[in-house]
Amino acid sequence: MTRKKVVELNTTDETSAIIRENEIDAILAQGTVKDAARVREVLAKARELKGLDMQDVATLTAISDPELLGELFATARFVKETIYGKRLVLFAPLYISNLCGNECLYCAFRARNKEIKRSALSQEAIAEEVKMLVEQGHKRVLLVAGESYPREGFSYVLKSIETIYSVHAGNGEIRRVNANVAPLTLDEFKELKAAKIGTYQLFQETYHRETYAKMHLAGKKKDYNWRVTAMDRAMEAGIDDVGVGVLFGLFDYRFEILALMQHIAHLEQKFGVGPHTISVPRLEPAVGSEIAMQPPHAVSDLDFRKIVAIIRVAVPYTGIIMSTRETPNIRRETFALGVSQISAGSRTNPGGYGDGEKEERAQFSLGDHRPLDEVIRDVAELGYIPSFCTACYRLGRTGLDFMDLAKPGEIKGHCDPNAVSTFMEYLLDYASPATLAAGEKLIADTLASMDGIQRQRSEAMLSQVRAGKRDVCC
Ligand code: SAM
Ligand code: SF4
Repeated sequence: MTRKKVVELNTTDETSAIIRENEIDAILAQGTVKDAARVREVLAKARELKGLDMQDVATLTAISDPELLGELFATARFVKETIYGKRLVLFAPLYISNLCGNECLYCAFRARNKEIKRSALSQEAIAEEVKMLVEQGHKRVLLVAGESYPREGFSYVLKSIETIYSVHAGNGEIRRVNANVAPLTLDEFKELKAAKIGTYQLFQETYHRETYAKMHLAGKKKDYNWRVTAMDRAMEAGIDDVGVGVLFGLFDYRFEILALMQHIAHLEQKFGVGPHTISVPRLEPAVGSEIAMQPPHAVSDLDFRKIVAIIRVAVPYTGIIMSTRETPNIRRETFALGVSQISAGSRTNPGGYGDGEKEERAQFSLGDHRPLDEVIRDVAELGYIPSFCTACYRLGRTGLDFMDLAKPGEIKGHCDPNAVSTFMEYLLDYASPATLAAGEKLIADTLASMDGIQRQRSEAMLSQVRAGKRDVCC
């Protein structure tokens, strides 16, 4: 597929063409007519793994009947298992700074919040944090920061990425750094790409302009258009993998899912490929934020599962990320419904891996406080393969190249052996005895369920790992 000509977008008119609120309102009005036959027609289409259009998605958001909801969940399970099998990719966020010049009403880092202590980690402190993550067994880090950098400006982020990649401890190192930082200019995105970023992640928070204006009172983030066009600049700068998301709880989730679909369609049209991941953060309590304590459009646990299932069937080849904002139970339930990546053992306060969880510096409260080893054991006992694979990114299988492989299902031949071998690295280098036992059993069961070629490939890679070789991905 050839890439479409890239045009910079930054005017209100052009961004109104990306997110068309009137169209969403009209579709929601039609789609809310309850019609079981139409729901079943959409679910049958979803099983073809080609994704859904806006009308289809609106039909699914209107489901309230428990039987139809059960059918939606079963379809999401089918899509998840067919495309992603039993793999779950693991990562940890790394908060490098909680300095921020914006006034997002839901966030503890907002500029006027006097109830938290501020800090930006030095490069030495970042290296210390990374060493601790590597020693736990992590291979992927998501760098996170508020929108105000110490004196050196944006190069602080670039230096931090270099620092993260430079740390080696025992048999381990971080092999993929993703970043969730404020929207950048085209030139800054080029620098981020040159720093060997994996995925650039940014959440629109809410796609609803009026709500956006009410929630973002000061600072650069007030500019909806600058934010909604960030992925255009990132992709134009050559960053193939971008991650989008919505902060659920700020506005009606049905509107947000449809707007997300419009954003994705825009990127697909313009660049030939949509986002690599979608994140589904739900508002959590945050020190100094009333909105975070009482979300204006609180999403129930049932609706949250519905959101994950709808996204899974609507955009089947885009990964879904579930963070530790959610409780262990909710996380477990959503693995089956479509989640493909999870964070574990997370801290949202800068320095948190060394200092422990400290509310007075944290962005929001966590729902899952378990250490990585415990999460891994739980995941393995549920039959999912924890994966630390970073092969696609390092072998250049990103963006369109990744999707070209993923859509015909070719990627699966690589993913399962890579998941099993990187999981074995974890088990041998970092696991507790109980996790090692659960993991060995899972690997044996997984090998037994593989076809001949995949099994041979996996066994060959496992023998190399057992013999002391590391990072043997294919
Ligand atoms: N500061 C940058 C920005 O806002 O884009 C980058 C990182 S920000 C620290 C990461 C994300 O945390 C935000 O995009 C927002 O969705 C989420 N967040 C903020 N406050 C939250 C809360 N109270 N509960 C859950 N997630 C929250
Ligand atoms: Fe700053 Fe991001 Fe928090 Fe907004 S969400 S206050 S930009 S850290």
